[in-house]
Amino acid sequence: MGFYEALEKVSAGEFLNQEEIAVLLSTDDEQENRDLFTAACKVRNKCFSNKVFLYGFVYFSTYCRNKCNFCFYRAVNKSIRYRKSLKEIVDIAVSLKKSGIHLIDLTMGEDPYYLDRGKAGYDELLNIIKQVKKATNLPVMISPGTVSEKLLEKMKDSGAEWYACYQETHNLNLYNKLRPDQPYQKRYNSKLAAKENGLLIEEGLLTGLGENVYDIAASFYKMKELEAQQIRVMTFVPQKGTPMEQFSAHDNKMELKIIAVMRLLFPDRLIPASLDVEGIDGLKKRINAGANVVTSIIPPDSGLAGVSQSTLNIKDGWRTVQGVVPILQECGLAPASVSEYKNWLKNEEHKNAEENCGLRRQNARNRSCVFAS
Ligand code: SF4
Repeated sequence: MGFYEALEKVSAGEFLNQEEIAVLLSTDDEQENRDLFTAACKVRNKCFSNKVFLYGFVYFSTYCRNKCNFCFYRAVNKSIRYRKSLKEIVDIAVSLKKSGIHLIDLTMGEDPYYLDRGKAGYDELLNIIKQVKKATNLPVMISPGTVSEKLLEKMKDSGAEWYACYQETHNLNLYNKLRPDQPYQKRYNSKLAAKENGLLIEEGLLTGLGENVYDIAASFYKMKELEAQQIRVMTFVPQKGTPMEQFSAHDNKMELKIIAVMRLLFPDRLIPASLDVEGIDGLKKRINAGANVVTSIIPPDSGLAGVSQSTLNIKDGWRTVQGVVPILQECGLAPASVSEYKNWLKNEEHKNAEENCGLRRQNARNRSCVFAS
């Protein structure tokens, strides 16, 4: 199948097979790329009108027990380490709310302080969610790494709506090279467990790590299987002091094509444009590829870091709502209201609950079949 046949098919609402996805991702033709992005934006605007959601990023602890080979914050790296106090976290969340964001994204490395001290650590972590919720009354996303089902359930009870946990790739060999000592299935299952406990989930990819277009197509199938409500891609930025420091950096072309193809395959999902790869300069391209969320908005005076570009555009104040809105306007878009975001969320939580009911009924049927035999 040729490029335009595949584009027509997916634009008509059909899911593509892996060959067809590969055709769309493989093009280097400028006109084909323009048509891909135009089709993606058309689909986005049909689902979300001209509205974009804005996420405030609170990377509240950069300590981590893991050794992911691509990550600046891997346990053994001499990187920026901090752990913000509860008061600092709440103050930052409140200032983000005042600036006009729709969600507080509470992110940490797998910090032993919270995850390896039993109840005392869990309670502190859960209290952060509760206090941020209480102070802002905004939706909360928690990104704590791989955690137990019990803790996920408590995070939901503490007020979190979202659980973000990225596989980065669904090619098992590549995954094992990127995330040593972190079983693939355990990480994947934590998302399933979160979903079953009523949390919405975000799955994510890194591109530029040596994957091919068939690996990316396979990831889209995994995202479909997970029914993740938010799906993201970021271009890998080689990090100083890591085993992948010398890895050659890629441009953003594949990231933009992935955003567009994700939008076409998953029209009504949330797809972020991250400020964490190219800062404010890269926002327009990502929005014009079909993204409908801006992530990694960070207050300039918060002392917080980003994940992949730890300092880019933070102190100069560009990773703020004020920095982002004029660019959205140039793209013919505007920030949604908080109530529009909350309505979207409510609707998704309702669908999630219905799916979980269906799943439980299915499990019950399977169990009764087993008992019958
Ligand atoms: S990617 Fe996350 S889990 Fe891996 S080392 Fe970095 S902070 Fe830790």
